[in-house]
Amino acid sequence: MNLIGKIKDGKRLNFDEALSLYEMDLFELGCIANDIRQKINGKKVYFNANRHINPTNLCADVCQFCAFSSHRKNEYAYTMTHEEIMKIVDETVCRGTKEIHIVSAHNPNVSWQWYLEIFKKIKEKYPFLHVKAMTAAEVDYLHRKYGFSYEEVLDKMIEYGVDSMPGGGAEIFDEEVRKKICKTKVSSQDWLKVHKLWHKKGRESNATMLFGHIEERKHRIDHIFRIRDLQDEALKNEKGGFNAFIPLVYQRENNYLKIDDYLGAQEILKTVAISRILLDNIKHIKAYWATMSLKLAMVAQEFGCDDLDGTIEKESIQSSAGANSKNGESIKDFIDLIKSSNLIPVERDSLYNELKTY
Ligand code: SF4
Repeated sequence: MNLIGKIKDGKRLNFDEALSLYEMDLFELGCIANDIRQKINGKKVYFNANRHINPTNLCADVCQFCAFSSHRKNEYAYTMTHEEIMKIVDETVCRGTKEIHIVSAHNPNVSWQWYLEIFKKIKEKYPFLHVKAMTAAEVDYLHRKYGFSYEEVLDKMIEYGVDSMPGGGAEIFDEEVRKKICKTKVSSQDWLKVHKLWHKKGRESNATMLFGHIEERKHRIDHIFRIRDLQDEALKNEKGGFNAFIPLVYQRENNYLKIDDYLGAQEILKTVAISRILLDNIKHIKAYWATMSLKLAMVAQEFGCDDLDGTIEKESIQSSAGANSKNGESIKDFIDLIKSSNLIPVERDSLYNELKTY
């Protein structure tokens, strides 16, 4: 049976077959991915009203691709107080934000309570807000720094009010590539272990993949397969799991990787289309506009993606590395863009419950 027949019959491709999808014509690949996307999500394009907060950029780890952390090229080090974070939350709630997305660097100068108690403060004041916080890399950092087991960190996160986990820190799972780009942070195995434990607690998370740096196509396929395997386990246990996969495009400014040969739109679109085709057990593929620009993220909606992420409001991690995401996007702009593409804008909550169809 040829590849296309196998995909149309809902059969899974082996590694070599999956890799060979990259050799297909872009539009043929896009049509296949779009068919799958339409079967799962119709013409809906999801987004949410969220606010990203990055409370500190002081980091004990050193990742070669990172422009956010303060001890490399970025001299501006900061650590917010809880009062400063709550002021941001107060302001954003007035604008209708429904999700607070908190991701920090690994700051050796603050306590574990600084990391976790802010979630309790947010939930006590605004119980309706969804708190998406603590990447597996941060969980691993608290484990390394304070001697907690992963289970203990995850239990504390739940106790303090974290609702779901973001997918950051996955980067690329291939161990050789990982050694070159982020050897001090959470290992691939431990990233997967943390999410597995989180899912076992009946909780949902996202999964990411950072691509377009020194990795090869085969490393992306390996990464996607490892995510798919873990999702199979979650579905078998009927508990938790990944609600979205987010292929993040590497941003090339202000870091030490110095990649000149960066990806073009065709390779990005092929990668999102292949993600849609291979991840038959994850319902949503997110075109995170902060790393691929809003225009390409809209095109990606016809290459397998069904989500733009959120309004963000303020973003520090990708914009430090050159992305045009510093000041977020308005809901109105999302709606206009989606409608003008003949797709259906759907505002969702963090767990993909539909709140409003425009
Ligand atoms: S990517 Fe995260 S862990 Fe790595 S240096 Fe940057 S802030 Fe630190």
